[in-house]
Amino acid sequence: MSDCIFCKIARKELKSTIVLETEKLVAIKDINPQAPTHVLILPRAHYSTLNDCDDRELLADMLDAAKKIARDLGLERRGYRTVINTNSEGGQTVFHLHMHFMGGKPLAGRMG
Ligand code: 5GP
Ligand code: ZN
Repeated sequence: MSDCIFCKIARKELKSTIVLETEKLVAIKDINPQAPTHVLILPRAHYSTLNDCDDRELLADMLDAAKKIARDLGLERRGYRTVINTNSEGGQTVFHLHMHFMGGKPLAGRMG
């Protein structure tokens, strides 16, 4: 999508701090971090929300990327949180599918 900020970030037309790249995914530092480590894992392909993505392999790749980031940053044992916000009541503000990866401190709220 030409006017989507995360598509532009994935194409490197907009600047971001990249922490991991694969053929299908880019993981970047969140511009407004809610935890000492706050990374966004986004597919290179555009899906507006989780509801729009039926690519099970891609969704598994997103979780694998989270596990690799946890290993790389030494958060595997300490713990971390992965979240996909969907639509308005889920708190989604950028309509390009992405998974939040947060860690580096005890996170408030059980969320579930
Ligand atoms: P959502 O609320 O849609 O689940 O999450 C969107 C996230 O994207 C927010 O945490 C917000 O801080 C982050 N964000 C919004 N615009 C940009 C940007 O231009 N660059 C980066 N790195 N993060 C962004
Ligand atoms: Zn997009």
